[in-house]
Amino acid sequence: MKLSRQFTIFGSAIFCVVVFSLYLMLDHLDYSKSPNGEKTQNGQLGILQDKIDHLERLLAENNEIIANIRDSVINLRETVKVGKIFPEGNMSQGDLELMPRAPALIPIHSEDCQFAARTYSKAADGVQMLDVYDLLSFDNPDGGVWKQGFDISYQADEWDNEPLQVFVVPHSHNDPGWLKTFDDYYRDQTQHILNNMVVKLHEDIRRKMIWSEISYFAKWWDSIDEQKRDAVRRLVENGQLEVATGGWVMPDEANAHYSALIDQLIEGHQWLEKNLGVKPKTGWAVDPFGHSPTQTYLLRQAGLSNMLIQRVHYTVKKHFSSQKTLEFFWRQNWDQDSSSDILCHMMPFYSYDVPHTCGPDPKICCQFDFKRLPGGRISCPWRIPPQAITNNNIQERVQTLLDQYRKKSKLFRTKVLLAPLGDDFRYTEAVEWDQQFNNYQKLFDYMNSHPELHVKAQFGTISDYFQALRKSTGMDPEGMNVGQLALPVLSGDFFTYADRDDHYWSGYFTSRPFYKRLDRILESHLRAAEVLYSLTLANIQKYGRPSEYPAVDNYKLLTEARRNLGLFQHHDAIAGTGKDWVVVDYGTRLFHSILNLKRVIVSSAHWLVLKDKQTYYHDPSNPFLQMDDVQPSQDALPRKTVLEVSGKPRLLVVSNPTEQARASMVTVYVNTANVRVLNALGHVVHAQVSAVWNDATHAATDVFQLSFVARAAPLGLRVYQLMEGMEPSTEAAKYMFLQDGGRISVNKLEHFQQFYQNDGASVHIENPHLKLSISTATGLLEKMRSKDDDSEHQVKVEFAWYGTTSNKDKSGAYLFMPDKEATIYSPSQPPVVRVTKGPLFSEVTTSFTHIKHTLRLYNIQGVEGQSVEICNTVDIRGEINREIAMRITSDLNSKDRFFTDLNGYQVQPRKTMAKLPLQANFYPMTSMVYLQDSSARLSLLTAQSLGAASLKSGQLEVIMDRRLNQDDNRGLGQGVLDNKITANSFRLLLEKRSSAEEAQNEETAPNSYPSILSHMSYMYLNHPLISMPVSQNSDASSLIPYSPLSASFPCDVHLVNLRAIQSKEEGGGPSEQAALILHRKGFDCGFSNRNTGLLCATTSGKINLEKLLTDLKVKSITPVSLSLMHTYNSEADPQEISLKPMEIRTYRLQLG
Ligand SMILES: [Zn+2]
Repeated sequence: MKLSRQFTIFGSAIFCVVVFSLYLMLDHLDYSKSPNGEKTQNGQLGILQDKIDHLERLLAENNEIIANIRDSVINLRETVKVGKIFPEGNMSQGDLELMPRAPALIPIHSEDCQFAARTYSKAADGVQMLDVYDLLSFDNPDGGVWKQGFDISYQADEWDNEPLQVFVVPHSHNDPGWLKTFDDYYRDQTQHILNNMVVKLHEDIRRKMIWSEISYFAKWWDSIDEQKRDAVRRLVENGQLEVATGGWVMPDEANAHYSALIDQLIEGHQWLEKNLGVKPKTGWAVDPFGHSPTQTYLLRQAGLSNMLIQRVHYTVKKHFSSQKTLEFFWRQNWDQDSSSDILCHMMPFYSYDVPHTCGPDPKICCQFDFKRLPGGRISCPWRIPPQAITNNNIQERVQTLLDQYRKKSKLFRTKVLLAPLGDDFRYTEAVEWDQQFNNYQKLFDYMNSHPELHVKAQFGTISDYFQALRKSTGMDPEGMNVGQLALPVLSGDFFTYADRDDHYWSGYFTSRPFYKRLDRILESHLRAAEVLYSLTLANIQKYGRPSEYPAVDNYKLLTEARRNLGLFQHHDAIAGTGKDWVVVDYGTRLFHSILNLKRVIVSSAHWLVLKDKQTYYHDPSNPFLQMDDVQPSQDALPRKTVLEVSGKPRLLVVSNPTEQARASMVTVYVNTANVRVLNALGHVVHAQVSAVWNDATHAATDVFQLSFVARAAPLGLRVYQLMEGMEPSTEAAKYMFLQDGGRISVNKLEHFQQFYQNDGASVHIENPHLKLSISTATGLLEKMRSKDDDSEHQVKVEFAWYGTTSNKDKSGAYLFMPDKEATIYSPSQPPVVRVTKGPLFSEVTTSFTHIKHTLRLYNIQGVEGQSVEICNTVDIRGEINREIAMRITSDLNSKDRFFTDLNGYQVQPRKTMAKLPLQANFYPMTSMVYLQDSSARLSLLTAQSLGAASLKSGQLEVIMDRRLNQDDNRGLGQGVLDNKITANSFRLLLEKRSSAEEAQNEETAPNSYPSILSHMSYMYLNHPLISMPVSQNSDASSLIPYSPLSASFPCDVHLVNLRAIQSKEEGGGPSEQAALILHRKGFDCGFSNRNTGLLCATTSGKINLEKLLTDLKVKSITPVSLSLMHTYNSEADPQEISLKPMEIRTYRLQLG
C-alpha cells in the first residue's frame, strides 16, 4: 500500500538524519588536537573538558533535532490518520542547522476545518448587525425633544399591575489621563472623589456608588490607612459600593489588542482579589468610542454576567429603541450555541451625563442634575435650572421626573428601569454628594410613599439593576437562560460610531500612530519578558540552589510594565485623543517600560542559556546580554546598536518568542563588511551583508547590516557567533539606483557592487514563492506572481492625501471629516528608487518627501517568504489639515465586501455602503484587513492599529498619519499637531483559494477566518526574534541552547501569555504559580497551506502539556476563569488540555 511505502521513506529519512548527526558528532570529537602540539597534563585535562563541553552542546542540539523529528513523526501520524496525502518534502537533505524539513503541507485534521466551513444559522429572535445596517436608511430626521429619536407616549395605567422599578446608579467617570495626566487628575479630582465617597456613603446606608477604574483605585488605596481601608471593605460588603468591570482602565475597544485587553483585566482583577476580595459581576463601559464583541467575550470568560454599553451610532440606538432591543444577549458571530452570551444593556440616548440618562428630554433631565443648582460652577445649557427639592415643589418635581422615567421605560421590555446619575469626574466635593443624594432621596421617599404613582425608586448599583431585571424576566441571577419574557440575541459589533449628523469617529483609529506602534512594541516585549521570566523561575526552582537571579526586582519591573501597558489601553490613550502633554506622559511610561522589560528579558535569557548556572551574576550596569536596539527617547524610532566584531567570536543569543519552531531573518548592525556567521557548533551559516544608508544613495562606510536566517525551537534560545573574516557563504548585496524611470550611477559605494538592467525594463524581485513587478518610476509594487500556482494579480500600491472639509465641523483627533475622495500622492520631483538584491533578501526603497517606502522579500522557504514586508516611514510634520493613506488596488473582484479584525481576536465582515458618507466606511484595523473573490484573498497584516477601508472593489486603504489644525468639539480642545516620524509596518499576503464553493458561502456569512499562514505571518510580524549580543568576551562553550518544549504548539494554538502570579505575602514578589493563557484560533482551511515551513499540526484543540515540556514538570494545573477570579472545580489533567475553536482559556499553572 502507498502509505506503508511512505512510512518507509520517512523512516529512512529519519535514519539519514540520525546517522548524519552522529557523523557530525564524531567529526567534531576528532578536531580537538592542541594547536601547538604540546600536551601537558593540564592541557590534556583542558582538552578533555573541552570535549565534554562540546559533547554536551552536541547533546543539546541533538535533543532539539530529535524533538523536531518527533514533531514531524507526530505530524505525519496525524496526517495519515486523517487520510491526507503524505507531503512530497522529506528530511533526507541534511540542513546545515539540522532542522528537519517541514512537511510541504501543514497536517490539518479535517474536523478542524469544519468550524470555519459550517454554514451560519441565526437565532430565532436574532439580531445580526450586518442586517441592521442593510435595513437602516440613516436619514437622521429631527425627533423633537429627543432629537435623534421619536415621541414616546404611554397610558397612565400601564404600571398599575406591576410598578415601575427605578434604579438610580451614581457613577463618576474618571479618565486615567485625557485633558490632564493620570497623576494630575488623581491629585486634583479623583482622590477627593474617593475620600468623600467613604464619608458620604457611610452617612446613609441607602446611598450607593459604582467604581470601575482600578488604576485610580489602587493608587488611592496605597495612600489611605488601614482604618479607611476597612471602611471601604464594609461598603463593598454591604453592597453600597460596587466595582464594575474592575479592569485597570475602561479600555478603547477599537485599537486595543486582545492580549492587552486581557492583561489590563487581569491586573485589575488580581488587585481586587488581593486587596478587596471582590469579584465584579457587571461590565460598565460608558465612554469607549464604539463597542467590540471581543471585549464582551473577554468579560464573559472572566465570569461576568452582565454589561452596559453607551457609545453606539445614534441611528442604531433609535432603531433598537423602537424595536425594544436595547437589552439583549450579546453572542459572538462565530458561536454555535449560547456559550458566549452575556446580558447587555445599551443606553438609549446621546450621552452618559445626567441630561441624557433620566429620560428622552435633556432639558428636563438636566433639572435633576443637582450639581447644576443655581450658584454652582456649571448650569444647564437648556436654560432651565434645577430646583432644590422642597415640600412646596416636590409633587410637581416628582411628576416631571416620573414622566421621563416612564417614557424611557417604554423603550425596554421590562418594568425595571436604569437611570445612571453621574458624569466625568463627578462627586469631587462633599457638597455635591449632599446635593445629589439628599434631593434624590426626597424624590424617592415621595414616590415610594405614594402607591398611586406605581413606582418604586432607589439608589442602586449596576448589579442591583441587573439583578432586578433578571428577576422580573424569570432569569436566573447569573446564568444566561433566557427568561419567560425573552430578550433577543444579538451578534455583531458597534463600529463605526457616530454621535450626530455625519460626525463619524473614525479619525481615532489612526490618531497618534507613533504611539499605536509603540503600544505593540511594548506588548511584544511584555509577552516575551513574562514567558522568559516564568520559565526562568521554574528553572531556578528545579536547579534547587539559591540564585542571584533578581526574581523580586524583575517582578516589580513586570508589574510596572503591565500597569503602564494597561493604562495605555484607556479610551483616550491608545485612541490618541489626549492633550499633547498627556500623550508625552503615556509615551514616557511606554518607553520606560520597554527599557525595563529589556532588562527582564536579558537577565532571564542569561540564566536560561548559561551552561554552568553557578557562574550567573546580576549586574544591571554591566549585563551579560544586551539588546541590539536602543530607542533614544519616547518619541524617537529605535536604532540598531553596532556590534563590534573581531577575530574572536562575538556571541549572539537569539530568542524565539513564538510557540512554534521557526526560521526567521535576524539582522544586526556590525562594524565590518568582512564578517561571517557561525552557529553554536561552529558551522558556517549563510549570511548577507548589506549597506546601512545615510540617505537614499549614501551608504555608511563604517556600519553594515548583517542578516542571516536563525532557526529557533519554540520559546527557545539559540546561540550564534559573529566573526571577522569573509566566507563564501557571506554574500554582499548588490544595488541599483533609478530615477525618473532611468538608471543612475552612484559614487562611493566602496563595499558594494552596483548592477544594471536595460532602461525601461521593469524591476523584479523574487524568492521561491513570489515574484514582484515594481514600477521603475516610483519603486511601488504593481504585480504579484505566485510561483506555487503560477498565477499573477495586479496589486498596485499608491499613496493618497485627504484634506478636511470646509464646513464648520472639521476633522480632529476623534472625527474624520474629509473634504472629498482622496487625491493621489504625486511627488514634486521624481524620487530615487534603490533596488537591493541579495541572497537572503531583496528590497526596493523609494524616498518620497513624506514617506520612505520599503518593499522587502525574504528569500526563505516558508512563512517569512510567503508575504511581502512593507515599511513606511511617514513624516507629515510640514503639512496642515492633511491625512496620508496607503492604497492597494488589486484585480480581485471583492465588490463592496471586505474584512477587518476586531482586537486581533476575530474577523468582522464589512460592507462598504454608498448610503453612508466616506468616513463611515472606515473601520478599525488592529491586526489585519482583507478582501477576496472566488479565487483569491489579499490580506494586509499590520504591526499597529490604524483605520482601514475598501472604498472600491479590489481596493484596500489604510490611513497612516493625520495632522489636523483644529479641535473637533468633543472636549479635547486642540488639534493634532504633535506628529512624529512614524514607522508603519505591514505584511502583504496573497493567497489562492482552494475551493470556490466555500467562497460562495462566505459571501453572506457573518464571520470569516484568516488562514493558518495568515495567523503565523501576523505572529512573525508582531513578535520578531529577539537578538541579544553577549556583551563581553565569552566562549561559545559557556552557553547552551535552551528548548523548553519538545515540539511546537499546535499550529492553531497561541500561547497568549505565561504570566507570573503575585505572591500573597507582602513584598511584591512572585508566587510559584503562573497564569497560562491559551487561545485556539479559528482558521479557514480553504487556502493553500503549502510550503509554510511550519513544523506543527492541528490537534482538534488538544494539548498534552506534560509531554510538550522538556525538562520542566507540571506540578499542578487548575482551570480558572480568564482573569483568575473564579476557580473551576476539577484539577485539570495536564495530559488533557482541550480548547474549543476561538476559545481563550486560563490555567493556574505551577512548573518545577
Ligand atoms: Zn472617558
